[in-house]
Amino acid sequence: MEQSLVEKKVLVANERLSVAQEQLDAAIQAYDANRPDIEAMKEASERLREARVCIDNIQQHIEATAEVVPSMRGCPACGKSIRAQATLCGHCWTKVNPQRA
Ligand SMILES: [Zn+2]
Repeated sequence: MEQSLVEKKVLVANERLSVAQEQLDAAIQAYDANRPDIEAMKEASERLREARVCIDNIQQHIEATAEVVPSMRGCPACGKSIRAQATLCGHCWTKVNPQRA
C-alpha cells in the first residue's frame, strides 16, 4: 500500500467516525424513551464497524512495512544516519560495529 493510500484510508475511517457521531448525536437529540431510535443506532454501529475495518487495514500495513524498513542509527564518527546493521558508514567511511535489529 502506498503512503497516499494510507492517508486515504485514514480519511475514510475519520469520515465514518464523523458520520457515526452525527448519527448518534441526532439520535440523542430525538431521544424518546417510549420509542428509542434503534435504526439510528444500527446506522451508527455500521459506520463504526467500517471505520474499524479501515483502521485494521492501516494497522496491518504499518506492521507489514515495519519489517522491511531498516532501523537506523547515528554514525559514531560523523553522526549521520546509517543502517543499524551497517559495518561501514556511507558518509565518512568509518568502520562501525553492526547492531542487532
Ligand atoms: Zn560516518
